Amino acid sequence: MRIAMIGTGYVGLVSGACFADFGHQVTCVDKDAGKIAALHRGEIPIFEPGLDALVVSNVKAKRLDFTTDLAAPVAEADAVFIAVGTPSRRGDGHADLTYVYSAAREIAAREIAAVLRGFTVVVTKSTVPVGTGDEVERLIREANPSADVVIASNPEFLREGAAIRDFKFPDRIVVGTSDERGRKVLGDVYRPLSLNQAPLMFTARRTAELIKYAANAFLATKITFINEIADLAEKVGADVQEVARGIGLDNRIGSKFLHAGPGFGGSCFPKDTRALVKIAQDHDVNLRIVEAVLGVNEIRKRAMARKVSNLAGGSLRGKTVAVLGLTFKPDTDDMREAPSIPLVTGLLDMGAKVRAHDPVGMEQARKELPDIEYCDDPYTCVKGADAMVVRRAGGAAGGRQDHAGAAGAARCALAERQEDHHAGAAADRGPCQRRADGQDAGRARRRDRRLPRPLWFKNIAGDADRSRHGRHLLAPDSRRSRTERRRRDPVRRVP
Ligand code: NAD
Repeated sequence: MRIAMIGTGYVGLVSGACFADFGHQVTCVDKDAGKIAALHRGEIPIFEPGLDALVVSNVKAKRLDFTTDLAAPVAEADAVFIAVGTPSRRGDGHADLTYVYSAAREIAAREIAAVLRGFTVVVTKSTVPVGTGDEVERLIREANPSADVVIASNPEFLREGAAIRDFKFPDRIVVGTSDERGRKVLGDVYRPLSLNQAPLMFTARRTAELIKYAANAFLATKITFINEIADLAEKVGADVQEVARGIGLDNRIGSKFLHAGPGFGGSCFPKDTRALVKIAQDHDVNLRIVEAVLGVNEIRKRAMARKVSNLAGGSLRGKTVAVLGLTFKPDTDDMREAPSIPLVTGLLDMGAKVRAHDPVGMEQARKELPDIEYCDDPYTCVKGADAMVVRRAGGAAGGRQDHAGAAGAARCALAERQEDHHAGAAADRGPCQRRADGQDAGRARRRDRRLPRPLWFKNIAGDADRSRHGRHLLAPDSRRSRTERRRRDPVRRVP
């Protein structure tokens, strides 16, 4: 099959490279000439594990090409995928994506219509409001009434950081078209996956468009639910991670997306939940649950800086906070709506000096957060800091190890600082070093008792955390003794 992929971003490039890997002939088109030039030089414009090798091997096999000019690839294509960005409107916080979506689809549709030749399926892979397919069809037919074309919807469910795996081993593939010829072409495009038992679900176009929004809104709701439970767990002295495990083992609930954290962000959930609310309003439907999810999530993201301040003794003025992990999740350089943005700006507003490190996202982060100091390695970042925020989520071994190691180093750095403040206290840096290396933790713990006011990890999601799992915040003096906790916490006093 010949495929033209319009839009060579996270979705377009990954999908294009995977389709080429299936054996299709793929041309990725982008209007960003710099991006296409970089791809021609063999440079991958985004960070996505495994993508560089996949692109290089398929370019070498002459199955994958890049261009800024869509005329030729579209004219020859059996299927033209639209994978352009559909961002949320900035500024007022209320999503009205209609104009952004319209602009994207109109440009694409008009350009496509002029060059279509033979039977072609035009497929919207971008996440678009329900009815966008109808509008794309209208625009194409208006520009080229004789075009032999079917417009289909094929929403993408890949996750950044695991995009290639998600694309090649999807839970399902949703294809929205009622046209038999369209179904046949897309069935052939996805044949390698359906042969591999991936469920290929054919639906009507509008249903496919809604499936994507409903899926993202449901996942965002699950995250927000456990975040609110984390707040309650903190107040009543329960461990939210155990609560999550306890409910997640129920097959009706499932364990995924039950990791309490600083609120959801990223390139999809925030804009898609806002768009869904907007779509519903346009149809006189109130999606009260999704509206509540959005409100709760905004408040949560803003509250994170206050949590740091409280843990650091109530004021951050003049203090240095080290932030490890900036992108919206590990293994991506994507900073779109990352929860680190409200966190860092909140810390700055409170008078803190912020230093940060991210294994892959610092170049993108600099554009969003220009007023902080960037450190090339996590150890330099945390050295001498008054508090440290470790942002990480499951599934990122590299990031996790980096940050866990740095957490150990930070603990030492902070302990050393405290020793300086408490002249005469025994200074023994050996155990700290071993702990940073993950060794001799028991001995380190014993010897740490000699340190004044030990430091501790605290889960930024709200739950006191005795392990190194979950998202952690390290702040000086934030550890309360068990006796003190029992005294303060009436629930714990009940036998
Ligand atoms: P992106 O911003 O990374 O990439 C979009 C690309 O489209 C850009 O390179 C841009 O230059 C290009 N473009 C825009 N208009 C164009 C045009 N007329 N012709 C050619 N190129 C054009 O966006 P993305 O993250 O890949 O997302 C694309 C769509 O997929 C969005 O609707 C998004 O919601 C959806 N989606 C994204 C993800 C994800 O994880 N990023 C997952 C599933 C679905």
